[in-house]
This record gives sequence, C-alpha cells and structure tokens, in this order.
Amino acid sequence: MDFTLNTEQQLIYDYGGKLAQSFDHKYWLEKARKNEFPEDMWRQAADDGFAGLMVDEAYGGAGLGLLEMALLIEGLSNAGIPLLMYVVGPTMSMGHINLHGTEEQKSRYLPDAAAGKTLFCFAITEPNAGSNSMRIQSVAKPVGERFKLNGSKVFITGVDVCDYAVVVARTTPFDQVKSKTDGFTVFIVDLKAKGVDFHPIEMNMILPERQFTMFFDDVDLGPEDVLGEVGKGFATLFDLLNPERVTVAALSCGIGRFAIEKAAAYASERVVFDGPIGAYQGVQHPLAVAKTQVEMSSLIMRQAACQYDQGEEAGAASNMAKYAAAEASIMAVEAALQAHGGNGFTNEYGIYDLYSLARLMRTAPLNREQILNYIGERVLGMPRSY
Ligand SMILES: Cc1cc2nc3c(=O)[nH]c(=O)nc-3n(C[C@H](O)[C@H](O)[C@H](O)COP(=O)(O)OP(=O)(O)OC[C@H]3O[C@@H](n4cnc5c(N)ncnc54)[C@H](O)[C@@H]3O)c2cc1C
Repeated sequence: MDFTLNTEQQLIYDYGGKLAQSFDHKYWLEKARKNEFPEDMWRQAADDGFAGLMVDEAYGGAGLGLLEMALLIEGLSNAGIPLLMYVVGPTMSMGHINLHGTEEQKSRYLPDAAAGKTLFCFAITEPNAGSNSMRIQSVAKPVGERFKLNGSKVFITGVDVCDYAVVVARTTPFDQVKSKTDGFTVFIVDLKAKGVDFHPIEMNMILPERQFTMFFDDVDLGPEDVLGEVGKGFATLFDLLNPERVTVAALSCGIGRFAIEKAAAYASERVVFDGPIGAYQGVQHPLAVAKTQVEMSSLIMRQAACQYDQGEEAGAASNMAKYAAAEASIMAVEAALQAHGGNGFTNEYGIYDLYSLARLMRTAPLNREQILNYIGERVLGMPRSY
C-alpha cells in the first residue's frame, strides 16, 4: 500500500498547523477549560471548506474519503487543537446521511452542514445498555406511517451546539426480534422538536465539547426522518463503525505527537544538573518509545482508512488502529508529563490538561476491552465469552 500523500491530502494534513496560527493550542485550552465549544474556530474551518470533507460535491461537500477526514483530524490534533466534534458530526452523522440518506434528506441537510451552518451530533449510548448497544431501550413506536420516539441517551457530545441528532432507536423491542441486530432504526431528529430535552453532564474533563443526557418524550417522527430502512438500522450503523474507529485513532495520534513534541522541546532546554534533561535516557527513551508507538499507530490508521475508501475489509486494521493509537497517546502524554516535571501540572504548560482527552479514547467510543474482543474473536477466530 502506498502511503505517499498527494498534494491535496498533504494540504489537508497541514491545515491544522495553518488553522493553529489563528486558533492555537492556548486558545483551545482556554475553551477546553471552560467546556466551551470553539465556535469561531469551527466557523473558520467550515469557511475554509473543512466541515463537509466527506460530503458529496453535489451537496456542497468536497467529496473526499475517510483518509482525508482522518488526515484533517490528525493534523488538527498534531497542532494541539483536537476536536471530537469532527468524529460525531462530519464523520458519524453527516457521513451517515451522505451514505444512506435519500435524495431529499441529502438536499435538505447536507449543504448547510457542509457549509458549517448546522451541526449534527450522534446518539446511541443509553444509561441501561452502555457498551451493549443491542440492548438500547429507546423505542420509536410505529403509529400508522409515523413514529413516536421515547427513551433516553447519555454522554452525547455537543448537543448544546447542534441543530440535529442522528439517533439510534428500536422500532421493534429487543424481546420481540429474532436476531438481536434486527429492529434498529436510525432517525434524524430536530433538536428543537417537541418532546426533545437535554441536560449537560458534569464531566471531570478538559474538553471544549460538553456531554449531555437526552430525553425523548413522544417525539413525533415521520418516514422522512428515517435514515436508511426501518428495522434495518444495524446494517447502516455497521458502515460507520470503522470510520469512527479510524477518526478516533487519528485524533489520538495527533494528541500523542503534540505532547511528545512539546516534551522534546522542553527537555532539550531544561537544565537542572549539568546539561539538558533531554540527554538523560530516563527522559529521552520513554519519549522515543511513545513516538514509535504513535507513528506505528498512524500507519495502521492510514491503512484502515485506505482499505475503507477502497471498499475493502477494514475491520481488523480499524480496530487495531483505535487500540494502538489510544494506548500510544496515553503513553505519550504520560512520558511528556514526566519530562515536564512539576511544570507539566501547571496551567502555563498544560500537559496534564491533555490527559483526559487522551485517556477517554481507551474508554470511548468503544472501550479497549471490546476492541480487543473484536481482534480476539474476528481476527484471531477465538471463542466469544459474553
Ligand atoms: C466524553 C464522552 C463522549 C461520548 N460521546 C458519545 C456520543 O457522542 N454519542 C454516543 O452515543 N455515546 C458517546 N459516549 C458514550 C461512550 O461511547 C460510552 O461511554 C462507551 O461506549 C462505554 O459505555 P459505558 O460508559 O456505558 O460503559 P460500560 O458499558 O458500563 O462498560 C464499563 C467497562 O466495562 C468493560 N466492558 C464492557 N463490556 C465489556 C466486554 N464485552 N468485554 C470486556 N470488558 C467489557 C470495559 O472496560 C468498559 O470500559 C461518550 C462517552 C464519553 C465519556
């Protein structure tokens, strides 16, 4: 597989560095500490054409693939301005509509979203189901041709700044389906619709995006709101699993690189005994190991993105990339923190501030253990325990 980036891909990858000239890591950190979405940074990126990277050109997007989306996300994170919103909005939600929407849905939603005028969040997780999405209890009960959606979601990113949510619900409850993957339907829900309510969760995280619980009380939905086929939502969701893993891996790789670069620069200057602490192998080697892990993760992440874009099986590489990148970025932040000594914990240096986002990626969107389950069962063919 050729990993050389073409001119356009290189521009996309470098965009984070360019954007950071106006909205730098300090800006990101200020927003993240206040849990405030960086609207002006988002707007700038949208104006520069980066909100609709994976949206078809006919609907105002750039018509590019997962690799380009991953490069954008990786490049932003490399520059210290990572955004989860690119995973839940342009990838999971707009990507979903682009792939499975009707002509009417694409024309209605995608041009504004690609222009950055509207934002989408993605809602599947529920309090009682957690990682076991098969057991979600939100039900959109068919009433004639329409549906009444009731239920709740938890940990939904960015609801406060979004206009619509792509919501996964059951149109047939779990105990009435033959196969546990039957009976799912994906809906586009207007967040201003009657019966939709949401509340912020007090999170202990340094992150610009806030997390929300959502409640649906008899929300009226029509056939025009169904994304894909009624009862067959699992198949359309399945198409988005690998992009989610890949983009999360891209985000993690960038965070890792950013932390390592800051630490290498700091350790090369900081003198406490006779020379810079970066000369001590106790400081240097953990950074070198983390750098190696990050670059290996980035390669497999790009491989997964290319496989996906070429319509090849991408599950193995996507899951390995998500696992490897999450672990590598945690390792990188940890090594960078140690290299900074006490300064790593100060507001001025902000290394510790990166920890919660890096660490999140071991738990969400899919936890480390389930990623390893996938690799153990689907790649290695070993038996399932749950
Ligand atoms: C900051 C943040 C943002 C998020 N954004 C979104 C979003 O936008 N949309 C959305 O729908 N969801 C979102 N989530 C939810 C996220 O996807 C879930 O938190 C995640 O899937 C884990 O589910 P859970 O928290 O219920 O953990 P649980 O399912 O309770 O699992 C707890 C732990 O048990 C272990 N475990 C669980 N199952 C297995 C298994 N089969 N084998 C081995 N070990 C297992 C794992 O260690 C896991 O971490 C977000 C979460 C956070 C924290």
